[in-house]
Amino acid sequence: MSDSADASHLEHMCERSGMRMTEQRRVIARVLEGATDHPDVEELYRRASKIDERISLSTVYRTVNLFEEAGLVAKHDFKDGRARFEPIPDEHHDHLIDVRSGRVIEFRNEEIEAIQEVIARKLGYKLVDHRLELYAVPLNDSGSTEPDDQK
Ligand SMILES: [Zn+2]
Repeated sequence: MSDSADASHLEHMCERSGMRMTEQRRVIARVLEGATDHPDVEELYRRASKIDERISLSTVYRTVNLFEEAGLVAKHDFKDGRARFEPIPDEHHDHLIDVRSGRVIEFRNEEIEAIQEVIARKLGYKLVDHRLELYAVPLNDSGSTEPDDQK
């Protein structure tokens, strides 16, 4: 993440959508765009308040929801009770969530993309969007408590 004074892609998109971009909203947009880990509101607040200590948790909350309503930010529910945010990516991707560590891994698989279109078509629909979340544990997890069933 650069500390460039140039407006980020997300800031530009917000401006283009007619949103009034205050300095605090700009900071939140940049923090969000610089994140690769799908942060929740509290984590965004931690990062944003390091840049501008006047930013409040409720400002971050309202701002990310505003971005989401404008269709510029995706809100995710990865089943850990926290809404997570990321800018809408240029290219679609899906997520694998490590349920032990909470780590979120992005992936894209053309076979999955294609088969979803086939399924929609078979049901009489044209696919316009989808979300896919895989919940998983590491294959070689030394912390595993499951019995070793190798033959
Ligand atoms: Zn993502």
